[in-house]
Amino acid sequence: MSAPALKTRERLTEVRYEIRGELARRARELEAQGRTLVKLNIGNPGAFGFRAPEHLQRAIAEHIHDTDPYTHQQGLPTAREALAAHYRRRGAPNATPERVFVGNGVSELIDLSLRALLNPGDEVLVPSPDYPLWTAATILNDGCAVHYPCRPEDGYLPDPDAIERLITPRTRALVVINPNNPTGAVYPRALLERLVAIAAKHKLLLMSDEIYDEVVYDGAQFQPLAPLAGDVPCLSFGGLSKVYRACGWRIGWALLSGDPVAVGELHHAMDLLGALRLCANVPGQFAIEAAIGGEATINGLCAPGGRLYEARRAVVESVAASRHLSMVTPGGALYGYPTVTGAAAVGFDDHGFALELLETQDVLVVPGTSFNALRRDQFRVTLLPEADVLRDVFARIERVLDRRADA
Ligand code: PLP
Repeated sequence: MSAPALKTRERLTEVRYEIRGELARRARELEAQGRTLVKLNIGNPGAFGFRAPEHLQRAIAEHIHDTDPYTHQQGLPTAREALAAHYRRRGAPNATPERVFVGNGVSELIDLSLRALLNPGDEVLVPSPDYPLWTAATILNDGCAVHYPCRPEDGYLPDPDAIERLITPRTRALVVINPNNPTGAVYPRALLERLVAIAAKHKLLLMSDEIYDEVVYDGAQFQPLAPLAGDVPCLSFGGLSKVYRACGWRIGWALLSGDPVAVGELHHAMDLLGALRLCANVPGQFAIEAAIGGEATINGLCAPGGRLYEARRAVVESVAASRHLSMVTPGGALYGYPTVTGAAAVGFDDHGFALELLETQDVLVVPGTSFNALRRDQFRVTLLPEADVLRDVFARIERVLDRRADA
């Protein structure tokens, strides 16, 4: 007789991360059977031939002999100096190295900061759709994710009044993802100012996920939140994964800005939790100063003729030519997030569609509901393959949608 299965944390049943979930597992099975797939599920530039800039690689290589010891829990002093200066240049005058936390990717710092902040039952306002770690980390830190809708008809920009109506005495934080994953929305300054005013009025922590800060197209202007937040407590998250195409180095950072008295306890809590996990990956930390001091080499990729720009153009044009799709043109980030329309949308189930696309067309996309979307008629693709590959992908998507529309 076999032993009873070990029980795990109950709240895990509320948590999903489908970007690497069931569909990705099925994709691996198909690959093991010899199928060649186009996998558009993970925003992983390195998997599509993008490389981290050479001056970042050199910075790690040159310092490799200094990377044996742990660093301070908040990160290498030189890296934090560089990051603080970067945020001061952006207009956040109170950015000092002491207020910077370096982590193993933004992922770790999202979890760490929510763990530092939340008591059981505390509420966090999270966009819907969201990058699903925000909802998952809130739940796993005993909080409650309250989703505020971002709708395609509004260009996926949230309505501040609707956000304010969701606030209760338990609300602790307001999460902003800008530029947004999965929608590609880039938030205008006036909207961010409204969100700051709401946070100030209701004494909320602003948590601004800015990991795609320099991934913007067609003149879209990214506005960092910290300079607008001023004395309002604000965590701004950034990292090397996307702008510097170094996901595997696992380097992210967070600036804790705002009135020093207001953020003092949170700072202490984050420092303690940081100490418990010792420090972030040290070789990667040596690339931070080089990254921040050097040119943002993503810009060329996002300009006409650049690979990301042309990939985005291929997706935008394919959607425009489709009988069944519409999409808000992404102003930033690395994704297209189309909506299924018309006859193909009747009874549409995004998961079933994604599975059919995988099984019959060898294309892996992520269903919209994986991003805690409130509707089931959307899906996400990454803009990382070459433009031609994406045009071919959308021809395959059209085949599946044609069949569904004509059924
Ligand atoms: N935040 C957003 C919005 C993301 O899209 C991602 C990764 O895709 C992350 C955070 C995690 O980034 P990191 O590689 O720094 O952990």
